[in-house]
Amino acid sequence: MNTKAKHIAFIGLGNMGAPMAVNLLKHGYIVSVVDLNADAVAALVEAGARDGGSAQEAAAVADIVLTMLPAGEHVKSVYLGAEGRQGVLAVLPEGAFAIDCSTIAAEDARLVAAEAAKRGIAFADAPVSGGIAGAAAGTLSFMVGAEREHFERILPLLQAMGKNIFHAGGHGAGQVAKICNNMLLGVLMAGTAEAVALGVQNGLDPAVLSDIMAKSSGGNWVLNGYNPYPGVMPNAPAGRAYRNGFMSKLMLKDLRLAEELARHTPQDTPMGGQARLLYERFAAEEGNADLDFSAVLGLYLPQVLPE
Ligand code: NAD
Repeated sequence: MNTKAKHIAFIGLGNMGAPMAVNLLKHGYIVSVVDLNADAVAALVEAGARDGGSAQEAAAVADIVLTMLPAGEHVKSVYLGAEGRQGVLAVLPEGAFAIDCSTIAAEDARLVAAEAAKRGIAFADAPVSGGIAGAAAGTLSFMVGAEREHFERILPLLQAMGKNIFHAGGHGAGQVAKICNNMLLGVLMAGTAEAVALGVQNGLDPAVLSDIMAKSSGGNWVLNGYNPYPGVMPNAPAGRAYRNGFMSKLMLKDLRLAEELARHTPQDTPMGGQARLLYERFAAEEGNADLDFSAVLGLYLPQVLPE
């Protein structure tokens, strides 16, 4: 199947989904958009998308449905249906393709894949990494769990939104890769915030300290492009009061997914567990759960948080 100029039903236009959908439009795809938030739909229609109406209406006329939703419960409800409402798998034309880019449990991805297969619909879990900057620039990494032949079919579509596209393995493998990555990211962010805070409490300039660590053995992805201290990197979420980024509640969800995965594995994840505890403590405070995950710096330096 040549996916070029195909009709995509894009469901979930949040911090990540909206810029991803814009990149599909730029590459010539026909995109029908769906979100519970009418403003998000209006902004995409302004950019050239069609208003898809409901998820079922959009899917019924699409070749490919792509979802970018917060968590597993939303993904299962959209694909499988809930509260007497049909899921999109029930209305997708046979031979259609379903791609879920949300970060959810591998087990949930395998469940949706199995239900899709019963209806002759190919499914891929294709979670992403790269943040909203990567989504806007079309440089996301995709970690795909799908049959090899299906992976090759959707490659051109994913290349319209990303730069590094990996075939992680069969159904669910994309989610396992993503959960491992995000557990590491949670640990890196918490550790980086802790180190920056310790230096600042001891009189160092956060920009100078960050530069030193970035070019020394503590260097990492957070220090390279996502510094948690306000103003060190004006384009990072810390420079815009921790808004429009990767919400702390979503990082907490991912750290819980990692622990859940480890529960069924002959291995503990004490570092991931510690990061989960820190995010739990942080997100429990009024207003913090919606702030970008770099705001965890506020556990150490409360003065950095917005009023
Ligand atoms: P978000 O909360 O900004 O966006 C989710 C969107 O889904 C919202 O616009 C919401 O209205 C919509 N939605 C929820 N339920 C819906 C339904 N039933 N039908 C239609 N629309 C519905 O979240 P996000 O930051 O865009 O993240 C989406 C997914 O990507 C999450 O699983 C997250 O963990 C993952 N992710 C996020 C980032 C990031 O930097 N923000 C990076 C990589 C992966």
